[in-house]
Amino acid sequence: MSINDYNYSNKFRKMSSDAIQPWVEWKHITMGKTHCPTCLRLDKCWFSKSDMPALPQHKYCHCTTLPKSFLTIQKQATANSTYSKYNPYLFDPKNEYKHGKDKLFNLWGYTIEDSQWLKTEIERQGLEKYVAGQYKLNWLDYNGQRINIIIKIPRRDKSGEATFTTGWMVYPNGKIQLITPYADD
Ligand SMILES: [Zn+2]
Repeated sequence: MSINDYNYSNKFRKMSSDAIQPWVEWKHITMGKTHCPTCLRLDKCWFSKSDMPALPQHKYCHCTTLPKSFLTIQKQATANSTYSKYNPYLFDPKNEYKHGKDKLFNLWGYTIEDSQWLKTEIERQGLEKYVAGQYKLNWLDYNGQRINIIIKIPRRDKSGEATFTTGWMVYPNGKIQLITPYADD
């Protein structure tokens, strides 16, 4: 199978229609007294009800959630990553970051030339999995809610797949933004 034919779309489309989870939008309510920076970050963020931040978040937290239609999630959610997360960060051509993650991708048959392909593929799978509720909540603080999403790409050195965890930040109105293309989880 060539790399261009490689496509998980059908598989995920089936999975997401088989198991539609209720979705919610976080609604920050202050009651004029408390302004929790963490709750403020969660305001208008969308989560699958089966994997959302704890509510209430803290003592005197008045936040609530509103039901969100799955159709809206499907239509409006977006996943983005910046090119620099792959080149130079991931492939580290000048050996600046010294995290060694480039060696793993090299082993699977990927080079810095594949940065754009990886960016497109990771955004595509990231969005599909977020919408399908196939993410895991990670650290939450005043910077926001981080989630982990597992990505699979074909190995080019031999048959089979390489699996790795990507880290994302959740933003209002269905936006997720890549933090790291390879999380140490
Ligand atoms: Zn709150």
